[in-house]
Amino acid sequence: MKPMGPIPPWFAAEEGMLLVGGYGAASLVDEAGDTPLFAYDMDIVAAQIRRFREAMPAALHLHYAIKANPYAPLLTAMAGQVDGFDIASGGELEMALAAGMDPARISFAGPGKRNDELEAAIFAGVTLNLESEGEGRRSLAIGQRIGKIPRVAVRVNPDFDLKGSGMRMGGGAKPFGVDADHAAALARAMIDGGADWRGWHIFAGSQNLDAMAIIETQAATIALAARLSDAVGVTPPLVNLGGGFGLAYFPGDVPLDIRPIGVALDTAFESLPDILTGSAFAIELGRWLVGEAGVYLTRVIDVKVSQGETFVVVDGGLHHQLAASGNFGTVVRRNYPIALANHFGAAPAADPVTVVGCLCTPIDRLGDKIALPPVQEGDLIAIFLAGAYGASASPAAFLGHPSPREVLLG
Ligand SMILES: *Cc1c(COP(=O)(O)O)cnc(C)c1O
Repeated sequence: MKPMGPIPPWFAAEEGMLLVGGYGAASLVDEAGDTPLFAYDMDIVAAQIRRFREAMPAALHLHYAIKANPYAPLLTAMAGQVDGFDIASGGELEMALAAGMDPARISFAGPGKRNDELEAAIFAGVTLNLESEGEGRRSLAIGQRIGKIPRVAVRVNPDFDLKGSGMRMGGGAKPFGVDADHAAALARAMIDGGADWRGWHIFAGSQNLDAMAIIETQAATIALAARLSDAVGVTPPLVNLGGGFGLAYFPGDVPLDIRPIGVALDTAFESLPDILTGSAFAIELGRWLVGEAGVYLTRVIDVKVSQGETFVVVDGGLHHQLAASGNFGTVVRRNYPIALANHFGAAPAADPVTVVGCLCTPIDRLGDKIALPPVQEGDLIAIFLAGAYGASASPAAFLGHPSPREVLLG
């Protein structure tokens, strides 16, 4: 038997049937037409946003990094509830605009922005988080050619990283941003070149559950922004402090308590360095906002035994939910929280089962030797924490199975 991560506390059952957004899992599948299905509960997202607003200084902007989940109905709902979207491609630009987000509140990060993407972004009036000097030069040239002043911030590769992050995005040689010792010169060159300089974007890490580490990184980020701004000699309109708020995916993970982070930011905002007293501040979050709101529902096709080990074979797999298979940004494979949706909360069987997807590859393993109630063909398996980096972050074309269905509730 191997442990699973904790089921997010927002889920309950009615007569043994898991509820998502107030609906039974089986009726959601009937309504959608078939499995596999991603069901997202907007009420859970809204509650996370409320928790953020309650904990953080009122002046702090909340941005949603839409790569976590760009499902169009979700984006439209998010556009009314957060202060900005962070995007990372021309495709995401189109999605963000279609969701009704004001272009002035969209920022565009990501290395390797093509000229057509830069042009679309400059034309729309979104802020480019510049990843290099070359991108700055191309932006100025494109702005001149189309008669638009580019709005630009400089993404800084900080000289520190967020300790204990699932994914490190700063510290050392990185493809992201401009090294801290070159950032002020780039900002100055963009201002001199006629761009509308919007400030700094400093993102030091992701998927972090250690409030103290986040607090330390934010303090270092504010100090770095002040030092760079002093070097430019201009107050940045916006300092994007990055994000990094993580989720409890795995056994032993303790959910992040964001309240101490809010207290520390309150204090920091009360004693800002002079050059930043007129600046706005933002945090950009992806998974923390939407991850717990999603459940991946997949049907049991087969239950079979091999050399004493029971395999539960489902009609979904890593082609939809790569992260749960352990092949998306994790080093050691561990179990996501999984449940039998149509016998939610029932006592586990004596022997563990291994839940595998329908792909013909040994890496398509969704739950390794986990405790579930007795499983039969036709049962519904629920994989939690499927609201972020699921449908859009998985290799859906691999092996020619159908795309998953998605539904937004609440
Ligand atoms: C991916 C990404 C995010 C979101 O990360 P999460 O771990 O989902 O919160 C935020 N900002 C940038 C620059 C990113 O690349």
